[in-house]
Amino acid sequence: MRALVFDQSLSFQPRHRDPVESDGDTLLRVRQAGVCATDLEITRGYMGYRGVLGHEFVADVVSSPDRDLIGQRVAGEINVVCGRCDLCLSGLSSHCRARSVLGILNHDGAFADFVRLPATNLHVLPKSVDDDQAVFVEPLAAAFQVLKQIKLDGRKWVTVLGDGRLGLLVAQVLRNAGCPVRVIGKHPDKLAMCEKWQIRSRPVDDITPRHDQDVVVDCTGSASGFELAMQVVRPRGTIVLKSTFATGKPMNLAPLVIDEINVVGSRCGPIREAIRALAEKQIDVASLITRRMKLEQGVEAMELAGRPGVLKVILTME
Ligand SMILES: [Zn+2]
Ligand SMILES: [Zn+2]
Repeated sequence: MRALVFDQSLSFQPRHRDPVESDGDTLLRVRQAGVCATDLEITRGYMGYRGVLGHEFVADVVSSPDRDLIGQRVAGEINVVCGRCDLCLSGLSSHCRARSVLGILNHDGAFADFVRLPATNLHVLPKSVDDDQAVFVEPLAAAFQVLKQIKLDGRKWVTVLGDGRLGLLVAQVLRNAGCPVRVIGKHPDKLAMCEKWQIRSRPVDDITPRHDQDVVVDCTGSASGFELAMQVVRPRGTIVLKSTFATGKPMNLAPLVIDEINVVGSRCGPIREAIRALAEKQIDVASLITRRMKLEQGVEAMELAGRPGVLKVILTME
C-alpha cells in the first residue's frame, strides 16, 4: 500500500507493507486524513515514534469481526487499549499502561491506503457529517476534553492562547458552552475568523499580561506560549495545557509556585460529542481547511502544515 512513513526522516513509500492483523481487528480503507501539530512534532523527535504517521482520519470499513460495521464510514478513537490493566479497569482506559496510539505510539497510522483498529475504537458517521468535517472529529474531541476537565461558568475570564488549528476549535467549543472566551494569537486572518464567530480576539503583541485570567488554555504548541500563559493567568487560576512539543528548552516554573497555579494536562476527548457537534453544525471547520493534497504529496503537505498561519492540510487517498 501507499504510506507516508517517518523513520529518522519523512518519506512517501509507494509499496509499504500492509498493516498487520492483530486480535481480529478491523481493516479500514482510509478516505482522507488531517495533518496535525503532533505529526509535525513527531518528525522533530516527539515520542521517538517510527512508522506510518496520521491519526485524524475518515475511513470505510473493509472487513471486521463486527459484521454491522462492514461498509460503514467511520472515525476512530486513537488509543488502542488492553482493557485489563488497573487504569483500564478504573475507567481511565485512554491512559492504559499497555496502550498503543494510532500514528503516535507503536501503531501504524492513517496516512496510508489502509489502517487497522479494534472495532470498539470505531464510530459510525452520520450522513450529515461529510468527509471534510470527519477529519476534525479527533481534534474536536480533544477540544471538548477541556470541558470534561474543568468547570467553566459564565463568570469566568477565559483566554485561549494560540490561533492555530486546535486553538480555533477550543475557542468555538468554549463559546458554545456559554463561556466569555477571548483568543490571543499572531495571525490577523485567524483573529478575523474569531470575530466572524463572535469570539473576542487580540493580537499577542497588543496585550499586557496582567495575571487576571481565571483559565488559560494553552494551544500555542510552544514553550514560550506556556511562559506567556503563566503571566496571563491569575493567582490560583488554571492553565489547561494542550500543547505537545518536543523541545527540551529550560523553563522557569517558579511562577507556578508563587501564584499557586493549577496546571491541567489535556489530551484526547469524547469522540461522540465531537461527532454530534459536527452533525448539528455547531462548529465551523470548513474555514479551517487550508489545502487538500494527495497522499503522494505527503512530504510537501507536512512541510506546508508547518508554515506559520497554515491551518488544516488534508491528505486524500483516492
Ligand atoms: Zn492530532
Ligand atoms: Zn489497559
